Amino acid sequence: MGTLVIFDIDGTLLDTVFPHQSSYLSALGRFGFKSVDADWSGYPEHLDSAILHEIMRANCGRRATENEITRFDVDLASEFRRRWNRTGDSLRASSLELLAWLRDRQDTSVVFATGGLAAVTDVKLQGLGQGGSPAATASAVETRHALIERAILLGGATVGRDRIVSIGDGLWDARAALSAGVEFVGVGEHGAAAFTSENPAAAHVNEVGDLVRHAIW
Ligand SMILES: [Mg+2]
Repeated sequence: MGTLVIFDIDGTLLDTVFPHQSSYLSALGRFGFKSVDADWSGYPEHLDSAILHEIMRANCGRRATENEITRFDVDLASEFRRRWNRTGDSLRASSLELLAWLRDRQDTSVVFATGGLAAVTDVKLQGLGQGGSPAATASAVETRHALIERAILLGGATVGRDRIVSIGDGLWDARAALSAGVEFVGVGEHGAAAFTSENPAAAHVNEVGDLVRHAIW
């Protein structure tokens, strides 16, 4: 294999952070949790599954069951579909262009890694013309580190043998790439200095569309 590219989705390929978070809160309300701490950075792991387990533990003294997570995800996905303006998404056009450009490169494969649950993730992937593509999601794992490891596995790559590039907008994405031993490109508002303070080898671009024909290739 040549290069495996691992993409975060929310805030990296799509402008979906706000519609995702508001749909998540609304789904929690229908799940019976009307007043929850919506400072997501205060949770130990920033993944839909880990946060749901944490809220269940605080309110019910136990983790969510697999069945509860699946039910929650189906409701979250339908709420998200209502709230996300896919055609008005400010990042989508340049992401479609980048994904098309990468598809034409014989030596490169792509896999997605996201803190969102599986059903809501597939709504986003459909919006990127990638419905059903391999994706490591919060339905399978509960930590950012495990998310990257799962993406590497799904991509059929091996650390140390293949070139693996992780691309994300979160500082936790930079940290997870460092701990997994893969390259990292930070995207967007945190800026080059913030990303390199988390991951000294991190590269940086302002938006993901800047990666078409970028020097990192
Ligand atoms: Mg993100």
